[in-house]
Amino acid sequence: MNKKFTSRVIKAIFLECVMLIVTITAIGGAVIAHNEFKSTAYTGTKTENEVTSTKSDKIENTTFTIPASTTTTQPTVNEDYEYAYAGFNPQIIDPNVNISKILLNTDYILPDNYKPVLAEAVEGSDVELDARVAPYYQAMYDAAAKEEILLTPYSGYRSLERQKTNFEARISQYMDEGMDKKEATIEAAKVIMLPGSSEHNAGLAMDICSVSDSFENTKEFEWLSENAYKYGFILRYPKDEAKQKITGVVYEPWHYRFVGVEAAKEITQRGITLEEYLGKAKV
Ligand SMILES: [Zn+2]
Repeated sequence: MNKKFTSRVIKAIFLECVMLIVTITAIGGAVIAHNEFKSTAYTGTKTENEVTSTKSDKIENTTFTIPASTTTTQPTVNEDYEYAYAGFNPQIIDPNVNISKILLNTDYILPDNYKPVLAEAVEGSDVELDARVAPYYQAMYDAAAKEEILLTPYSGYRSLERQKTNFEARISQYMDEGMDKKEATIEAAKVIMLPGSSEHNAGLAMDICSVSDSFENTKEFEWLSENAYKYGFILRYPKDEAKQKITGVVYEPWHYRFVGVEAAKEITQRGITLEEYLGKAKV
């Protein structure tokens, strides 16, 4: 009897120990996973103004080496993504790669605290771009100016903070109009890029002259159609409907994205999107 009892107690203690080890391992794993997630710079806070200089230095000194894949090795994230409740599950990209490899859309977003090193796109303008891109814009601007074409930098870098404020404001507006939060978020994402998915957040895109559809009918647009690729810029969101399905964004004749001269030339000459160029088109 006693022996049996003792044996039961030992068994019970043993089981407890096993459970404890399993629990500790699980918690440890979760903490590691969380830290790894954090190390990809998704911190859950929007602090673009507080980005450390080490991050900036890293970007400035990058040698543009291109890993085989920039995004597929990233964590598939992300129940932690703040708009996951509306079905958005973007991967967080590593922005420290060759600019031509940076793809941003609802599937791929920037780390939450990302802020590029900035420079004025055109001397004396208040409009900024990634400092690596600004000289190309200036050169394009100067070349066009010689032909009396004025490529006014209308909107360049936009902080993640501002993108989020705009996005949240639109969600609130739709909720005020009677939608529930999920529905409002889905609708907001149709008109405002998800925070972190706008190329303006990366300082890689410029809205030129205006954000009006009529820009298509200007001599500035005509000039860009002929020459933008020579300076590394592409028309990022083309008019063609099949292309719109690939980019997920409506035609924007004013929005030019810097991808570097070589990529811009190929993309423009082949008439493809950045998604197709990078082999990431879903349709
Ligand atoms: Zn734009």
